[in-house]
Amino acid sequence: MTTTTVRDVSVFGDAMAYFDEAASLLDLEPAMRAILTHPSRQIIFSIPFQRDNGSLEVYTGYRVQYNFARGPAKGGIRYHPGVTLDEVTALAFWMTWKCAVVDLPFGGGKGGVTCDPGELSQGELERITRRYAAELVEVVGPDKDVPAPDVGTTPQIMAWFMDTYSMHMRTTVPGVVTGKPVEIGGSLGRVEATGRGVSLVAFEELQHLGIAPAAARVVVQGFGNVGSVAAKMFASRGCKMIGISDISGGYVNRNGIDIAGATAYAQEHHSLEGYRGGEHVSNEKLLETECDVLVPAALEKVLTAENAERVHARLIVEGANGPTTPEADHIFQRKGTVVVPDIIGNAGGVIVSYFEWVQDRQGYFWKESEVNERLEELLLTNFRKVREVAHQRQIPYRTAAYMVAIDRVTRSIKTRGVYA
Ligand code: NAD
Repeated sequence: MTTTTVRDVSVFGDAMAYFDEAASLLDLEPAMRAILTHPSRQIIFSIPFQRDNGSLEVYTGYRVQYNFARGPAKGGIRYHPGVTLDEVTALAFWMTWKCAVVDLPFGGGKGGVTCDPGELSQGELERITRRYAAELVEVVGPDKDVPAPDVGTTPQIMAWFMDTYSMHMRTTVPGVVTGKPVEIGGSLGRVEATGRGVSLVAFEELQHLGIAPAAARVVVQGFGNVGSVAAKMFASRGCKMIGISDISGGYVNRNGIDIAGATAYAQEHHSLEGYRGGEHVSNEKLLETECDVLVPAALEKVLTAENAERVHARLIVEGANGPTTPEADHIFQRKGTVVVPDIIGNAGGVIVSYFEWVQDRQGYFWKESEVNERLEELLLTNFRKVREVAHQRQIPYRTAAYMVAIDRVTRSIKTRGVYA
């Protein structure tokens, strides 16, 4: 019997608040709320592994398969010292809504190992990953649960996972994980997918607001995988990139930042530290720069009750997971700032993960242009659906996105019936 509900998970108060608000607007009956707030399956196991010096250590591994109503569980594997069962459960809950809001035939899942990958050699990481995969052999697979990279895990780690699973199955099974290197069944376009998706949604909403891309001033916080790709896409459509940042701080230039130059600088120096193409400001100040589009693409909880009044963006597209607190969200609603929530703003990554799984199962791989076209079609169709619900019900996009997602999962459960 599962006794944990997500209501017990303290790390996930925000998502629970969004879920409750949308569930109330949907008049969700108590039994359905109970089903949706209980994870289907939580697995905890030991990972004994050999250090390079020959000694043995034991780490803890987790996999939570939150919901299977719409298909196999889907979600990343996190390697981080702070990983707990609560956190993994919360993230699996979140993945359930992210997959459903963009209409993927997946449920939600998440996994992790409590470890510090920065302190481990490649050999140690490989041994941990292979043991982690071996422990899950019976409950993962293309029809059951399809992991992917998350914080602290990489395409190489996915390759080791795929190889271990395949060795146990006695056949090569690329579709057991996504985010793999292209040589072994990864998808073209996967690396850029999240940043590309952020920009696609922003362009769609800018058009709706009557702002031409060439007239839009854009600020992006974070210059990693999501932020740097989003910045490149904005610049390529003629937007004026007036602010970028990374852990070294923000760089603001109201005449426009040369993104190709900043990217080359960041690649050469492994950071924007010392970049001279803009005035150096703090990351807090960067968020308060007057602009049309703000993309927080670094960390969670950066837009709070404390700074929301000083944020002047017309449109915020959440590239990071959870960058806006519920208090800040209320302030943005009052000010009329449009916020595109993370579950759809950064869903480009999971959409192309889905395409990777489809290609692996077909054994037929698409051109990058085909991947990008299908990404645009799937993401924008669902974003427009969210906007329609938001306008009909006069509610923010975030609540509408949760409503669309919860409604889809609920319909699947009701249509299948509960085997009780
Ligand atoms: P990344 O590690 O590639 O980049 C993170 C960036 O944030 C780096 O430029 C780093 O310097 C910067 N940063 C770190 N601490 C900072 C701070 N205190 N202030 C300002 N900047 C800081 O990570 P990523 O893959 O780009 O992910 C960014 C966010 O997007 C995370 O919240 C992640 O969960 C979310 N996300 C990523 C994907 C994906 O496909 N990569 C998908 C969905 C959501």
